[in-house]
Amino acid sequence: DLVRVANFGAGPSALPLSVLEEAQKGLIDFNGTGIGIAEISHRSKEFQAFVDQFEQNIRTQLDVPSTHRILFTQGGGTAQFSAVVLNLLARHRLLHPNATPEETTLDYVVTGSWSKKAAEEARRIAAGHGTVRTVVDARVYSKDGKSFDNIPPHAEFQFSPAPALIYYCENETVDGVEFAHDAASPASFPFDRLQPAGALVPLVADYSSSFMCRPIPRLADHAVIYAGAQKNIGPAGLTILIVREDCIVDVDTAAKLGATPVPLILSYKVLADSKSLYNTPSVFAIYVAGLVLERMKRHGGLAHYEAVNKRKAEKVYAAIEEGEQKGVFRRKVQQGSESWMNAVFEVLGEDAEKKFLEGAEKDGMKGLKGHRSVGGIRVSLYNAITEEEVDKLVAFMTQFIEDLK
Ligand code: PMP
Repeated sequence: DLVRVANFGAGPSALPLSVLEEAQKGLIDFNGTGIGIAEISHRSKEFQAFVDQFEQNIRTQLDVPSTHRILFTQGGGTAQFSAVVLNLLARHRLLHPNATPEETTLDYVVTGSWSKKAAEEARRIAAGHGTVRTVVDARVYSKDGKSFDNIPPHAEFQFSPAPALIYYCENETVDGVEFAHDAASPASFPFDRLQPAGALVPLVADYSSSFMCRPIPRLADHAVIYAGAQKNIGPAGLTILIVREDCIVDVDTAAKLGATPVPLILSYKVLADSKSLYNTPSVFAIYVAGLVLERMKRHGGLAHYEAVNKRKAEKVYAAIEEGEQKGVFRRKVQQGSESWMNAVFEVLGEDAEKKFLEGAEKDGMKGLKGHRSVGGIRVSLYNAITEEEVDKLVAFMTQFIEDLK
């Protein structure tokens, strides 16, 4: 008999069983072609029709305006750490051919491990061409002075007047810190501080671990939004990009003016001109993600997922809170900055964490160990995690608190 556990892992992570069953069939015969999805040409009309529908599903559900292209590529979020720098430095060079490296600023909002990593990669790539600035470092505002546990107050974000890019990570998967979507929250992204207001600001967002879990606030104000598929919508090997037209630039002309040459496969223009089929894409990953998006549409799209994800997160945070009050758990993230997708906490007491993980596993729940760099417990609550699975985890947490208090 089939035994599947509740997989609370951070990525690759749970996918809906119905999609996996459908994909099993597609592996043998893709849409009646008599050829399996891992075997079919990416240039076949059947696959191209599938990609078009996938793109349309993203555009409709996220309400992506016609000013933005939707592109598919590989290399994960990590490749985009480099690609956004290269493409936006090229754009900046075309706009300001004589700008010095000191005048060419790249603004990084550092709220967690992934944005920190992205800023480090930017320093490597931009060396000699631009200056990477840390707009704000959330550790300065943390409780212990060294952890990523908060979204800093809006007034602390010091953007440059005309940067080549402004970068943030919407949901920090490791640290469990996320920008609030309610614009009135002090933990929301300070869009209104961007300079110059209303212009084509080169705002870049890493949505790897929160893509398609709810609508994207002020999507149209972004230059580039990117996400690896392997958390909310599919297998690893597919990266989704939403790129505003003015950021799809001729990188070769920019290189003639002194910008760094851009590898073809990282160039947004190459991807856009080839309709994301410059080279062989990750056909299977696109297929599974496409099935997930179809299923989301049947369920009522993002409005449905937003409501469910909110309830899931509230239940888990309520259990963490209860554990904190009884001295069994300790929350790690400051109030208001908690992630819906990755809830992190500590289990207090010697060997208690081990006991928690073992107990959960015995009850059919895995993937709860925090990232190796920070430890503790991390509950990832991506779209494929059902409310029933959350209820089961919360019941386990409640019992654990009872037993330990
Ligand atoms: N950004 C975020 C927010 C992530 O969670 C991850 C991966 N966990 C990455 C970037 C890196 O992505 P990849 O492993 O796909 O390169």
